[in-house]
Amino acid sequence: MNVAIVGAGIFGMAAAIEISGRGHTVTVFDQGSVPYENAASTDVSKGIRRMWYAGDNETYVELVESAAAKWRHWERILEESVYHQTGGISIIDSFGPGTPMYESWRYLIARGATEIEVMTAPKARKRFPQFVIDDEETVVHDRWSGYIESGHAVKILARIARDQGVIITEETRVTEVTESSTGATVKVGEVEAKYDRIVVAAGVWVGRLLPTIGENVKVTHQEMLLIEVEDEPLFSPPNMPVWGVDPDGEGWYGFPLLREGCVKVSKEPLGEVVDPDFSRGGTEEFRDETLEFLRGRIPKMADGRVVSGRTCLYTTTPDDHFVIDWAPGYESVLVAGGGSGHGFKFGGSIGSLISDALEDRDNPLGRRFRIGDRFTKTPTCSQESRGFATPRET
Ligand SMILES: Cc1cc2nc3c(=O)[nH]c(=O)nc-3n(C[C@H](O)[C@H](O)[C@H](O)COP(=O)(O)OP(=O)(O)OC[C@H]3O[C@@H](n4cnc5c(N)ncnc54)[C@H](O)[C@@H]3O)c2cc1C
Repeated sequence: MNVAIVGAGIFGMAAAIEISGRGHTVTVFDQGSVPYENAASTDVSKGIRRMWYAGDNETYVELVESAAAKWRHWERILEESVYHQTGGISIIDSFGPGTPMYESWRYLIARGATEIEVMTAPKARKRFPQFVIDDEETVVHDRWSGYIESGHAVKILARIARDQGVIITEETRVTEVTESSTGATVKVGEVEAKYDRIVVAAGVWVGRLLPTIGENVKVTHQEMLLIEVEDEPLFSPPNMPVWGVDPDGEGWYGFPLLREGCVKVSKEPLGEVVDPDFSRGGTEEFRDETLEFLRGRIPKMADGRVVSGRTCLYTTTPDDHFVIDWAPGYESVLVAGGGSGHGFKFGGSIGSLISDALEDRDNPLGRRFRIGDRFTKTPTCSQESRGFATPRET
């Protein structure tokens, strides 16, 4: 098949590598250079973890473990390291049956995971002295967790794609996708090109090409702060893991010292709905709010120097699960995205889900991401409980 992919973020790039690996001819279009500075994937770091997927542990744990193996495989091909298994901690105030962390932990233990330790506050304070941890809080430490240098990873994955013969057409904004009985068409202004299939992996811009998808996803404003810390060893692995505080509430999270010479702090709950071309700068309000949080929770980080603030946009579906399916009303245009704030880590495994959908092969792990009646049902996601995190009723 001759396949066009619109978008060279992680969804598009992973799809390009897998689809071309299966012998198809692939052309990728991106409106920017790769990695495009305003793409959600273009960031210093994205967390990779297998906990907090109690909404569908069976699907997500399998996918994230296979993704991790693929990230290692890609690192070997590229002879570069982008995936850092630093361990991760979640500081939570309630750890019992029915809570997202507990149900994740129970599932992983039953699956044979040996890297997870549930710590009392005194023990956690000794192990992670950077943090203020209240006596009644629990700390779940998974040594498996880590982060991926996401923007850099997309950039170097393009090398694998090109080596496999993928044509990546940068600085080229696709203005329309259409289909007829003779195939699918990509339009760039007045220029048209025909393909057997098109994959639209356009991140927050998906609604511009596929309005029926755009109507069903929320594009929200999420901010992050980059801080230079004084005591670098204290904030470097193995002393400092990827961390999260109260994931079902305030949802602060962050990363240890990164290659860029700073730590990153951000916040999980959905921000205000914005246009996909909203400014990617940071705000004073978020800076102040973050520093106030850090003074109470990681005081030595709050003493650091703020280097910059940045905005990244989530593309969130009604139930927080990705969308990998034929676009409504199309037979040869597939949509791949709806990352819902947690898509990057799956880069190593979503390529095969997208390729299977494109080749009309049933993949049990891909069923979760078919559209079905998901857009007509009452949304399950909310600020407090995300669809992938909230334990399912059995
Ligand atoms: C603040 C923040 C924190 C996050 N943290 C994590 C995390 O810790 N772990 C994790 O796993 N995930 C995380 N995510 C989610 C993750 O970043 C996304 O799910 C993922 O990067 C989405 O990838 P994508 O390929 O769908 O979109 P993008 O990376 O945005 O790529 C879309 C691409 O499509 C191109 N494009 C769009 N329209 C057109 C067009 N018409 N013509 C040509 N090109 C076009 C764009 O230029 C862009 O390059 C986070 C997201 C944000 C915003």
